[in-house]
Amino acid sequence: MTGFSLNQMYTDLPERFYAPVTPAPVTAAPRLIALNTRLAQSLGLDAAWLASPEGVAMLAGQVMPAGVTPVALAYAGHQFGQFVPQLGDGRALLLGDVTDASGRVREIQLKGSGRTAFSRRGDGRAALGPVLREYVVSEAMAALGVPTTRALAAVRTGETVYRETALPGAVITRVAASHIRVGTFQFFAARQDHAGLKLLADYAIHRHHPQAAQADAPYGALLECIITAQATLIARWMHLGFIHGVMNTDNMAVSGETLDYGPCAFMEQYDPATVFSFIDEKGRYAYARQPTMALWNLTRLAEAMLPLLAEDEDKAVERAQEALARFEPEFQALYLKGLRGKLGLSTEQAEDAALIRGLLEGMQAHKLDFTQTFRSLSHQDAMHPESVQQEGTPLQMLSDWLPAWRQRLAQEPEQSSQARVVTMQQVNPLYIPRNHLVEEMIVQAVTQDDYSAFEALLAVTAHPYDDQPGRERYAEPAQPHQQVRHTFC
Ligand code: AMP
Ligand code: MG
Ligand code: MG
Repeated sequence: MTGFSLNQMYTDLPERFYAPVTPAPVTAAPRLIALNTRLAQSLGLDAAWLASPEGVAMLAGQVMPAGVTPVALAYAGHQFGQFVPQLGDGRALLLGDVTDASGRVREIQLKGSGRTAFSRRGDGRAALGPVLREYVVSEAMAALGVPTTRALAAVRTGETVYRETALPGAVITRVAASHIRVGTFQFFAARQDHAGLKLLADYAIHRHHPQAAQADAPYGALLECIITAQATLIARWMHLGFIHGVMNTDNMAVSGETLDYGPCAFMEQYDPATVFSFIDEKGRYAYARQPTMALWNLTRLAEAMLPLLAEDEDKAVERAQEALARFEPEFQALYLKGLRGKLGLSTEQAEDAALIRGLLEGMQAHKLDFTQTFRSLSHQDAMHPESVQQEGTPLQMLSDWLPAWRQRLAQEPEQSSQARVVTMQQVNPLYIPRNHLVEEMIVQAVTQDDYSAFEALLAVTAHPYDDQPGRERYAEPAQPHQQVRHTFC
């Protein structure tokens, strides 16, 4: 057998940060559904070994090779606004970490691999559908250039999991900068474990925000770095119409990566109130509320970090407030910058915000598809909408707004319209994992054990900005009968 081993940096932290896990006895034969060989290569992992029976047994969480010591991490979190002092990896295992080709430390984690010390009433398992959704959507996000965890592998465990119905069980292997969440800080704060809090902050600085170590007040600087990382991330989501769905504090990574893909989805018809998640009854995590909820979570982080910010409590609160005050302007600036890019604008004008608002209002009034609308603006025809024959296309519906945009473009430094098209297409994707396509591939996998739709969707969304002749269907919004209104996890 080839040797296979990983580092396990997290276990350098004290034992109360995690719990060791002994894999459950094997009751079924696992089967490899997908292996991201490119990602494996960049991580320096042996893809052939991962695909071997021993590799697949590890990826299913069943048998660990000698060089792998899995642990489940402790954390707390606010779930839909309610604080839960102990959550933790109830169905996930940190296998260990590697240093990738560019020198970055990457953690490798299984999700759906069985019960742990933190499972509470859960079965520790995951169903095939959500595993395939996370695989496709996280890989699409990476291709779109959004900070995100990656998908390394998906296996069917051969076991049945029981949700509303009996479903095939599966495990996803994901790769992340780390799995430290806002909720990890809350875990130690809730226990008034200031020593733990400090160790965690030092670890987070070392792993993610080393520049904070140089600051006069490193922990305040860490908080600011996390705030900036989140403002950057949420702006990217907003530019793409991505809705995370469960922005609980235990699902927010301090690295600034998108973490924990559950009932997430991309918005089609533009409406700021869009919600897909079946459990988000009140629309807490609706599309347009994401920046507000991110700041809410960061405020919980700042509260948890108070003991680190200053000895004097009033001073600590002041420091926290100063740091938090950065979020809104930073987010707004990044959001505007991205939208200017989406409209082909390289310069800034005070009226740009109103121009953008006008576009979004038009999109909402005419129920236009978010992705398709921006892509059609990134087309030669946008300059000559009268030449667009087809009734009801985004360009025709926006005929009231287009003149203002053209006028604004005329004030840009001169460039050929071809150059404009090229630049705009690099930021306005043609292909996203549309919900009805995700649904279609899940149904096919679950009912027919057929992964051709999964593979096709993965292949198309790997090149989201490129025209792919023959794949027009993947760029089309759902027909009314195909529309997916709710997502489950
Ligand atoms: P999530 O909503 O998936 O981010 O999970 C919230 C918390 O519930 C985390 O602590 C998970 O580990 C735990 N959890 C979710 N599903 C399960 C499950 N099937 N078994 C055990 N724990 C779970
Ligand atoms: Mg422990
Ligand atoms: Mg979670």
